[in-house]
Amino acid sequence: MRGLAARDVLAEAVERFHPRLVMACSFQKEESVLLDLLLDVEPAARVFTIDTGVLFGETVETWRAFEERWGVKVEVVDAAADPPWTGGAHCCSNGAKAAALETALQGVDAWITGLRREQAPTRATVEAFERDEARGIWKVNPLADWTEQDVWRHIAERGLPYHPLHDRGYASIGCATCTLPGAGREGRWAGEDKTECGLHAPPNAGATAAASTPGEA
Ligand code: SF4
Repeated sequence: MRGLAARDVLAEAVERFHPRLVMACSFQKEESVLLDLLLDVEPAARVFTIDTGVLFGETVETWRAFEERWGVKVEVVDAAADPPWTGGAHCCSNGAKAAALETALQGVDAWITGLRREQAPTRATVEAFERDEARGIWKVNPLADWTEQDVWRHIAERGLPYHPLHDRGYASIGCATCTLPGAGREGRWAGEDKTECGLHAPPNAGATAAASTPGEA
C-alpha cells in the first residue's frame, strides 16, 4: 500500500512537472525506493546528486550500482571545487552544498526528496506535496509517511541495490568527513550542533505544507 501511494504521488508529480522535475539523490535507502518507483513511472525522469568530493567510497559504489540497475545517468552538481572539506574540517560551513542545490534547481518547477517524517523532529511535519515558497517551486516527498521498516520491506521485496554502509550501522549517510555509525540521525554532523546540511534547514525553510495537491492549487 505504501508503495502504491508513493507511486501515485510520483505519477502526479511527473504528470504535472516533467521534464521540469528533478529528484535529489544521496544514494541512501530512501533513494533506492524512489528511483525504483519514479523510473517505473517515467524512465526519462531527471536525477541529480551533489558531489562534495568527500563522499564515502561506498557511496560512489552505490551510485554506480544505481546507474547499472536502472540505466539512469545521474546528473552531477560539483561542490568539490570549494574547499570547505579540506584542512581537517568535519562539517562544511560555507554553504557550498546549499549553493549547489540552488544550481541543481535552476529552471525546474518541482523537486523530489526522500524526506520522511520519522527521520528527525525537523522533518515531523513533512507532507507529500509542499509549496517551496522561497524558490517558487514545489517540493515532493513521496515517502513522507513511510517508516524505516516500510523502506526496507520495499527494498527486500524488489531486490533493490542499497548503500552497504546501512548494514554497518550507518542509518543516515552524509559525507565521509562528518558521518559516523548511528541509529536515526545520531551519526550525522559528529561533534557539531548541526541538524541538517542546509538543504532542508531550517526545517523546510520556505516550504509550507500544501493544503492541496499541485493540480488543485
Ligand atoms: S554531510 Fe553535510 S554538513 Fe557534512 S560535510 Fe557533507 S554537506 Fe557538509
